[in-house]
Amino acid sequence: MTAVLNPATEETIAEVEAHSAEQTDETVARAKAAFPAWRAVAPADRARLLRRLATLVEEHHEELSRIESRNAGKPIAGARGEIGMVAQVFHFYAGAVDKHYGETIPVAGGVDMTFREPLGVVGLIVPWNFPLNISSWKLGPALACGNTVVLKPAELTPLSALRLAELALEVGIPEGVLNVVTGKGSVVGQRLIEHPDVAKIGFTGSTEVGQQVMRGAAGTIKRVTLELGGKSANVVFADADLEKAAASAPYAVFDNAGQDCCARSRILVEKSVYDRFAELLVTATRGVRVGDPELDDTEMGPLISAAHRETVASFVEGEPFFRGDVPGGKGYWYPATLVEARPDDRIAREEVFGPVAALIPFTDEAEAVRIANDSVYGLSGSIWTRDGARALRVARALETGVLSINSNSSVRVSTPFGGFKQSGFGRELGMEAMAGYSEVKNVFYSTE
Ligand code: NAP
Ligand code: MG
Repeated sequence: MTAVLNPATEETIAEVEAHSAEQTDETVARAKAAFPAWRAVAPADRARLLRRLATLVEEHHEELSRIESRNAGKPIAGARGEIGMVAQVFHFYAGAVDKHYGETIPVAGGVDMTFREPLGVVGLIVPWNFPLNISSWKLGPALACGNTVVLKPAELTPLSALRLAELALEVGIPEGVLNVVTGKGSVVGQRLIEHPDVAKIGFTGSTEVGQQVMRGAAGTIKRVTLELGGKSANVVFADADLEKAAASAPYAVFDNAGQDCCARSRILVEKSVYDRFAELLVTATRGVRVGDPELDDTEMGPLISAAHRETVASFVEGEPFFRGDVPGGKGYWYPATLVEARPDDRIAREEVFGPVAALIPFTDEAEAVRIANDSVYGLSGSIWTRDGARALRVARALETGVLSINSNSSVRVSTPFGGFKQSGFGRELGMEAMAGYSEVKNVFYSTE
């Protein structure tokens, strides 16, 4: 058994089984046995089951939000938003079940048609930062396409996934369709990656483990989708609505205490407005309410663990430009921190995954694009300007998968999400995700 902690209090809140490789094999076998019947469920009935699951998540919204908040140390308001999205994701993919179909293609001598076939058993490996939310992005399309799944939550945050599996049974999703295995990534996750009966791994996590997923998947030519790290740029031009950009910027990096793959942790600001923007940014950062995650108005909680806090702290050398306050006492707290940086500094290149933002000046549009693209990552980013042509020019030039203009938002249920470069490949959310959980089959029928 593994103790599960609340990062805000350091107290044990549950004990969860640490599955072995053999137990993982047994779970994969159950998922494999359940596959033929699940793929054969009529589309309207599969949609109905997913819709019921969405509704049951809504009915358990507060309970699931509390579980997520306690287990991940995240502010309850944020957790409520995430669980709200989980329900929306299941609603969306319930609707997608019968809208994902093949084509007929003009050919000589017969009729050619394509089918979208499920893959079989898919392994879903997710991180601790948005535990149930990211799980739902994979579960929705995987189940909608007719696959059965084995979900492996992060060892630190298994509780919401375990509760969801119970709710799935309650709505009548058959036994063996939605399975959860708990335990260490190096044991359970590794076994899923190498298992010959797992057809695909949908992975969200670090770039290092993403590399292991690709290597491990090579043995069985498994399909993989990788959602990895990021070092996204928030590009602020002199003609932007500076007040609006500065008010939003802290939340684009300090939300979830910076443990967000989409964090805009490089804030690029045009030199002519740099001082003014920095001043506004400090004021806005001072306003971030840090404290007890259980309180409705808290905006930033602690980091996930003591070990992670050490990693985050290792990035900050010397006296930062700004450092916020944190509560005393128990909990893995780390203050909201702003540092001034040059593009080559470590803080401007590596993912911190904590509440630390690097402020970087630029002189013109070309330099802004060059600095923004000078990264191995390419997940998200923002452009702030009142010049529409420039906004679109820069949006086309940035090497990143998800962008927002005059906004710092990243995810919407119906729009594709995923990275360029070492931020991974494959897309989640929207109809795009259905492609990642299905195979195209081409059938030719001779009419001669
Ligand atoms: P991580 O260490 O890569 O872990 C992610 C998942 O992989 C966990 O379930 C982990 O299990 C498992 N795992 C670890 N080693 C494994 C192995 N050898 N084989 C198979 N599975 C293994 O990532 P994290 O520390 O949880 O999360 C932080 C990282 O995730 C950051 O880099 C962040 O950018 C990235 N992230 C990306 C996105 C995105 O959508 N692009 C979203 C969120 C987070 P354990 O629980 O046992 O460690
Ligand atoms: Mg890790």
